[in-house]
Formats: sequence, structure tokens, C-alpha cells
Amino acid sequence: MNSYVANVLEQLKKKNSDQPEFIQAATEVLESISLVFDKHPEYEKYGLLELLTEPERVIMFRVPWVDDNGKVRVNRGYRVQFNSAIGPYKGGLRFHPSVNLSILKFLGFEQIFKNSLTTLPIGGAKGGSDFDPKGKSDNEVMRFCQSFMAELYRHIGADTDVPAGDIGVGAREIGYLFGYYKKLVNEHTAVLTGRGIPYGGSLVRTQATGYGLVYLVDEMIKSRGYSFEGKTVVVSGSGNVAIYAHEKATQLGAKVVAMSDSDGYIYDKNGVDLDAVKEIKEEKRGRIRDYLNYHPEATFVANCRDIWTIPCDIALPCATQNELDEKSAEILIKNGCFAVGEGANMPATLEATKKFLEAGVLFAPGKAANAGGAATSALEMAQSSQRLFWPFEEVDRKLKDIMVGIFRNIDEASKSYGMKDNFVVGANIAAFDKIAKAMIAQGVV
Ligand code: NDP
Repeated sequence: MNSYVANVLEQLKKKNSDQPEFIQAATEVLESISLVFDKHPEYEKYGLLELLTEPERVIMFRVPWVDDNGKVRVNRGYRVQFNSAIGPYKGGLRFHPSVNLSILKFLGFEQIFKNSLTTLPIGGAKGGSDFDPKGKSDNEVMRFCQSFMAELYRHIGADTDVPAGDIGVGAREIGYLFGYYKKLVNEHTAVLTGRGIPYGGSLVRTQATGYGLVYLVDEMIKSRGYSFEGKTVVVSGSGNVAIYAHEKATQLGAKVVAMSDSDGYIYDKNGVDLDAVKEIKEEKRGRIRDYLNYHPEATFVANCRDIWTIPCDIALPCATQNELDEKSAEILIKNGCFAVGEGANMPATLEATKKFLEAGVLFAPGKAANAGGAATSALEMAQSSQRLFWPFEEVDRKLKDIMVGIFRNIDEASKSYGMKDNFVVGANIAAFDKIAKAMIAQGVV
């Protein structure tokens, strides 16, 4: 590894020793872009890596709310405004008990690169809370969202920072957050994306990450002579990304045979019935095991990690970080899986990623493969600024063009650095190139 890059990485590990997820994400990126510093030693004097790995701002705050029994509860809220070189901070909010600074810094750091790849003018950020919406009433969720926004509103704005959804933050939460922002600031602006269609949202935003994932993977496999037609696919998770990845893969002729949630996975050899999953997850907020009430012939296994033992041609991990480890990667490879697309952020561990690359599996990293959500959020912002509302087909076409463009860009970047078929390196280098130029142009800020 380039000595400057190695030195920055060593310092970063010391300084953030309590943040394993952030170290993991930074290691992957820095190892990849080491090649750029060999080619451009002049970059060192700009301190680009020291600047890039330190968030511009971290906001941490108390979120008090009252539950349905009248008891006061207190959660911790965060917003990590990582980098605004390319555009206003942009990135989702995650509500999950596991949320901490390490996870949000990893997600915010990844977001800088992902947003750069979209070619649209958006910087990188992430935020959220250790609040768990699961099992809470709508009124409890509303009171929590209002309290969260009562602090966050002073740090965001349509040209400053535009949050969106992520795990645990869907249409309901975005609605409550937006309503309260509007009340506090008295402005109906695109301060959040993923808004409902009647109040400023964009068509296709709901489907964007899952559809975008499949568009990119389709382009990747097509470039090597394959297609989704007739392929067996395993999709982990059963949330927003997983559901729409299933939908698009099925439209392209594939059969999705397994899906999961944190309790376990279902296997349906006839193909997972997406209408049933949507009803369970989107309407009833139920559990994936409830699928057996619709299809008793399917099986449920109470261990979500074992989903990767199901033989498949294409694996789409769409649940959460580090859900696919080295052992799972080995099993997938042994079972003949030839392509992996990361719908979630960093679902494959560093070791699993290495296994896939060594085995010649086509591997699309999350920052490229799941950039469709961020891209469509930027399209939502564009429509809001213009006071326009584009039809579904138009947004979908733009999304597809962006995803195809991302694949071509990362493919080109990997080849130009002598790393053909290594899209991890390709994505990191292509994204970094634009960020570096923007940061250098703006001076030491
Ligand atoms: P959701 O909250 O809608 O869904 C998450 C799903 O993953 C749920 O089904 C959840 O189950 C399941 N899950 C959580 N942990 C595990 C686990 N260990 N094993 C199996 N399943 C698990 O979130 P999203 O679909 O929005 O996000 C999924 C991933 O995609 C995240 O990594 C997110 O950062 C990333 N992403 C999302 C984007 C978006 O536009 N939504 C954009 C880009 C990336 P349970 O109900 O049991 O918790």
C-alpha cells in the first residue's frame, strides 16, 4: 500500500479504535484508492485523506418522548454531516437499537462515495437514533419523530442537508418528520426525500434502491454475457430494498427463492410470492415467518444467516451490514453463485468480499449497486425546485440511465488502473476522483 495512505489508515485506526464499522469501511476505501496516490503523489500535500476521513460536523442530541403509558423515554439522536464538497449533505436516517456513532460514520463515509457515483450534486451524511419503531404504536412513533425533529431542524435545510429514510425510517416516519419540520420552519421545501406523493415526493423513490440494484447488476452480468432470465436469486431482508429488488429481478425473468428478516429466512422453491411478502411487511408490519400462513409448502428456518446456504446463481444481500461473512461466501461460491449485488450497505465483510473477488464472482459493491435511492432522492429534489412532478416512466428511465452509467464508470475505472473486474476498486476510484477535484478546488475548508 502507498506509504501516505498506510500512514493515514494507521492513524485513523488509533483515533477511532472504538468504531469497528467505520474502520472497516475506511479500510476498504483507502486500500482501493492507494493506487491513485501512487499515480498522483501531489495529492498528499492537500491532506485529502485526513480531511475526507474526518466528518465536517457531528451532531448528537437527546430525544425525549412520552410513551402510551405516560412514561418518559429518552433516546439518542445523531446527524453526521460528513462531506459537502460536491453538494448539500445527503443521506438517510436509521432508527434501530444498534445505531451508534461507528455505524453512522461508516454509513456517512460510504454515502460520500455513493453520492459522487450518482453524478448528481449531493454530499455525504447519515443520521438516526437508537430508537426502535418495532412494536411502537403510530402515536408513539409520531411523538418520537417530532421530538427528533425539534432538534434536527436547526441543522438541516433544502440547500444544507437533506435527510431521507433507511432502516426503520419508511413512509410513516418521513411523513411525521416532514410535518413537524414544516410546522417549525414554516416552509414547504425539499428538506427530506422519500416524501409521500401527495406532499412533494417523487414517483419511483419507493422502488428506487431495489430497482436500481437490479439495473446495475443486470448491466454488470450482461457485460459478461449473462442475464437474469431463468436465474435463481436469493434476496436477504424483506424491507424496502429487498422487496423492490425481488420485484425487478422477477420482471427480468428470474426466480427469487428465499427472503429473510432478523428472525430467520423463508425458502419457497416455487418462487417467493411477493404480494404475500408486501402484505406481511408493508401493510401488517408482520414477520417473515407469517409467509407460511400464505404458503404452507414453503419452509422457515429461524436463522437469518443461513439464507446463504440456499443454492443460487445471483445473491442480493439487502438486509444490513456484515450479514454475509467469509463462510457464507465460500458456500455461495461452492454452490455456483456467479454474481453478487450489495443492496444493503456493506453487507459483505471484507473477508467475504475478498473471497468473491478471488473466485472471479462478479461483485457489485453497495456504494455503486444501491446508489439508486440516493440518485432518485436527488431527482426528487430537482422536481421540488422546479415545482414539477415527473411521470413514473420518466423517473424510472432516468434511474436506469444513472445505474447503467455508474456501472460503465466503475468498469472503466477498474480497467484504467489495471484491475479489470474488480468493481470495488473501480467504484472507490471513480467516486474519489470527483470528490478529490471538488475538495482541491475549494481550498482548505
Ligand atoms: P428496512 O428497514 O425497510 O428493511 C430492513 C430489512 O432487513 C428488514 O426486513 C429487517 O428485518 C431485515 N434485517 C435486519 N437485520 C437483518 C439480519 N441480520 N438478517 C436478515 N435480515 C435482517 O430497510 P431498507 O430496506 O431501507 O434498508 C436495507 C439496507 O439497504 C440497509 O443496509 C440500508 O442502509 C441499505 N440502503 C437502503 C436504501 C433505501 O433507499 N432504503 C438506500 C441505500 C441503501 P427486521 O424487520 O427483522 O428488522
